Amino acid sequence: MSIRIAQIDKTYGRTRALEPIDLDIHDGELIGLLGPSGSGKTTLLRIVAGLEQADGGTIHFGERDVTHVHVRERRIGFVFQHYALFRHMSVFDNVAFGLHALPRAQRPSSGEIRTRVMQLLEMVKLSDFAARYPAQLSGGQQQRVALARALALKPDVLLLDEPFGALDAKVRQELRRWLRHLHEELHFTSLFVTHDQEEALELSDRVVVMSNGRVEQIATPDVLYRQPANRFVFEFLGEVNRLEGDVEDELLTCGNARVAVPEVGDGRHELLLRPHEIRLAEHANDRAHLPVTVTAIVPVGAEVRLELEADWLGEPWQAAVSHADFDRLAITRGKRLFAIPSQLHRFDTARPQTLAPSF
Ligand code: ADP
Repeated sequence: MSIRIAQIDKTYGRTRALEPIDLDIHDGELIGLLGPSGSGKTTLLRIVAGLEQADGGTIHFGERDVTHVHVRERRIGFVFQHYALFRHMSVFDNVAFGLHALPRAQRPSSGEIRTRVMQLLEMVKLSDFAARYPAQLSGGQQQRVALARALALKPDVLLLDEPFGALDAKVRQELRRWLRHLHEELHFTSLFVTHDQEEALELSDRVVVMSNGRVEQIATPDVLYRQPANRFVFEFLGEVNRLEGDVEDELLTCGNARVAVPEVGDGRHELLLRPHEIRLAEHANDRAHLPVTVTAIVPVGAEVRLELEADWLGEPWQAAVSHADFDRLAITRGKRLFAIPSQLHRFDTARPQTLAPSF
């Protein structure tokens, strides 16, 4: 089921929670709403759900205008952060609840309900837990029950509000896999809210990045990361190092540091770069002279994370180097090296610009 959100806006008292928002979600898409706290994600989700009325604008599910349709009539499944399972009901009864609550004319027979519930429990690999109560399940298992319950009524649209927020990292990872898998199998359309970049990038077909009630960018995770529409998106999606200095004749100077910045006009400029866009070397070259001292080393994971300090830097830089480079350069705390950027990003222009000179 496609969802078309057109010019939806919302104000609470004097808080502008949503500027007019346009968003087209294709049938079967998994869309992540990503943004800092207070950016309007939940408000948008609640308006799509019909739990909140927008001040203006329209919402269509397929061809159907649901702007004023009651939440019960929207054919939506919900999953919330705090499982909200019925604690006095077994897993089976939790999943069956929506089916039992249907008006008699639409309600399947108890045999059909049983079959459907067991199929769903099979899908989330909890068939053996049908008779248990929520308190007898782990957090991750409870959230899988919540997913099965939300899917019992075969919703056209599944809405998830920080669904994995209360769980630890490993369980979150597992549940993300579940959701992807169920999504591919059952072909519903989903919209989920998260403030976790990794979760949004890993799960979503497309991500909607929001701030201050506005959409900053709608794109696939890949495009979002490589071609951020603006500085906000760039900074929100990963760690960022800053380099500020005076440019003259395409050379940026900052204290005793210098770096060639082709195509950048004279004047004061700020350039940004990600940790993996820094290479370290024993010597400077004629295009980059950025002396740094290694002040912290975290050798855990696929690469080694380093903290770099220098007189010419306001805040320390974070760098990520391969274990091979780490060994080759015999890096220790206190070691003096030179940073060589592979690329630099500029957002003080009308369109973001990436400088990728051969340093
Ligand atoms: P997010 O989900 O991105 O954290 P919200 O949609 O919850 O953001 O909130 C957006 C803005 O609207 C915030 O400034 C929040 O304080 C405000 N807001 C949300 N719900 C209400 C409400 N029921 N009453 C008043 N202000 C609200």
